[in-house]
Amino acid sequence: MPVGTQATVKALTPGDLRSAGAQMILGNTYHLNLRPTAERIARLGGLHRFMGWDGPILTDSGGFQVFSLAGLRRVDDDGVTFTSHHDGSSHRLTPERAMEIQALLGSDVAMALDQLVDPSLPRDQVAEAMDRTHRWAERSLSARGRADQAVFGIVQGGVDPELRRASVDAIRTLAFDGIAIGGLSVGESKAELAATLDVVADALGDDPRPRYLMGVGSPVDFFMAVERGVDLFDCVLPTRVARTGQVWTDAGRLNLRNSALQDDPGPIDPACACEACRNHSRAYLAHLFRARELLAYRLATVHNVTWTLELMRRLRASLADGSFNELRSEVVDAFGRTVK
Ligand SMILES: [Zn+2]
Repeated sequence: MPVGTQATVKALTPGDLRSAGAQMILGNTYHLNLRPTAERIARLGGLHRFMGWDGPILTDSGGFQVFSLAGLRRVDDDGVTFTSHHDGSSHRLTPERAMEIQALLGSDVAMALDQLVDPSLPRDQVAEAMDRTHRWAERSLSARGRADQAVFGIVQGGVDPELRRASVDAIRTLAFDGIAIGGLSVGESKAELAATLDVVADALGDDPRPRYLMGVGSPVDFFMAVERGVDLFDCVLPTRVARTGQVWTDAGRLNLRNSALQDDPGPIDPACACEACRNHSRAYLAHLFRARELLAYRLATVHNVTWTLELMRRLRASLADGSFNELRSEVVDAFGRTVK
């Protein structure tokens, strides 16, 4: 899922997203509820109509952003009080309010409110946040507001194998439509991420519900997580790095600000069918980035989203035809180094 934080995947129109092959996108509850507010979006017909995207949308609960506001929030068993990063105004988020906001937005998949913590905190603090997440999960399901909206629960427990397993056991018994794996991609090592996904995969067993790994999305990470049963991802990485001039290709990362590209007449990636690769050269993109032209950000983002979604399509095909290991070797080889 490309990430559309402010009801837009930065620099792209819904038509660009469709051309790139996007099947589903993510919207951020925290940002949308502070501005323009969930009530205003509801009055304007819901998030799909507001942003002109008629495909599926998943909204997060807002918890991730709130708990990232170090020093600006206070958590208790009922919910969390936080200070807006816009104007310093005070807001309250509870499991019930998070569900209400997402019902107003009208997303296709809503997320239960969870409490995430730094996995390097003492074990009792990680356990306390996990237990609270389980109580909030039950309250989120009870507060479910619309029959046409799926709700996913979130597994926490840091990188402690026992806590992770306990969290999977608690969340999987609840009537969620999907299981999300949260609290990762927040500073743990790749080995800890992989080991934690092993624990989750083992504890979920043959549970048929979709599995969503929140906030993970480098090309190599996709393979590591898919190998451990993950179905769904969101990550700002492809769009964020595109705006700095970093594009992803079959040969690895390419920096469009590199002066060597100023005379390169070839496309970003000869195998890519996106608008940027079909119509423009690396030299032109290198010029646009140097001149800080707005088109640079759009074309680089079009490319990275198209390339990433095409990688996911190839990944799905490789699972079907048995070439997963081969494709993974190609990508690990390409992204283990930087070209040019
Ligand atoms: Zn391209």
